[in-house]
Amino acid sequence: MTARMDVRYLCLAIVFLATGTRAPAISFVFDYNYDSAGFFSGANTNRRSTLEAAASFFETYLTDDLLVLDATNSGNPANTWAARFTDPSDGSSLRAITNLVVPADTLTVFVGARDLPGSAIGQGGPGSYWIYGTASWLETVIARGEMGALGPTTNDFGPWGGALSFDSGVNWYFDNDVSTIEAFPSTNDFYSVAVHELAHLLGFGLSPSFTRLVSGLSFTGAASVAEYGGDVPMYNSGHWLTNAMSSIFAGLGQQEAAMDPDLLVGTRKYFTDLDAAALTDIGWQLAIPEPPTFSLAAGLVAIMAMRRRLQRK
Ligand SMILES: [Zn+2]
Repeated sequence: MTARMDVRYLCLAIVFLATGTRAPAISFVFDYNYDSAGFFSGANTNRRSTLEAAASFFETYLTDDLLVLDATNSGNPANTWAARFTDPSDGSSLRAITNLVVPADTLTVFVGARDLPGSAIGQGGPGSYWIYGTASWLETVIARGEMGALGPTTNDFGPWGGALSFDSGVNWYFDNDVSTIEAFPSTNDFYSVAVHELAHLLGFGLSPSFTRLVSGLSFTGAASVAEYGGDVPMYNSGHWLTNAMSSIFAGLGQQEAAMDPDLLVGTRKYFTDLDAAALTDIGWQLAIPEPPTFSLAAGLVAIMAMRRRLQRK
């Protein structure tokens, strides 16, 4: 009896040790200063927490080390830069924040909402930049230590962050507990769209290390090809072909990929193995997922039963 208990405690200690020695993860920091419509303000706290839940998925699995961006403490007083992005709440004004400080292993994301054109319900991508200073400072801003982002083959990506915009003209379903599936007819699942747009911000369809692997309407990245079983057909240069299927990442069952161009009203889409393979091809490092849980499979059954209506994102 005593000996058996000792063995159990030993197992617990090993689990804690394994958790404690995990590589540092990437963190998203959301900035709502350009949410001029107040979409994420006031009583709408579940909106921010659902966005955080989407970020948490990537924060759990991305293990890259990104250098700090801090011009003042960069070792040369001449070094300066500006983070540039399109205002997420008006879609046209170019914003520039001089010497934005972005901590190590962190991506800064400016978030807003507006009435997006056409059937779009979300929009996201990495920001651009203006830089002046030493050669090493330029490299730090452009690549954040991901040296493959500097070429000549451009097989990595190290952005400072970017911007996300969500459609203020549709009905949303907000749920920061995404381990459970409830019915949410006639509404668009905010978590699904946030995951999709964050992947664009990470360079899906919008980074040199992704686009170098696009050939016509096929994606030729090695990890994606291995996952799919051949070149992956695309809808356009930034999405898998509509209704592309894959296994739920760290889950059970097949599901429409997160990075195809649309979302069914009343359904949730999780990130899939095919989506994750594309992040690997872009240059991101992903931790090995935990064993799958049953609740995701139950969710898949619910998804299959739902009525189909398309929304582009
Ligand atoms: Zn998209």
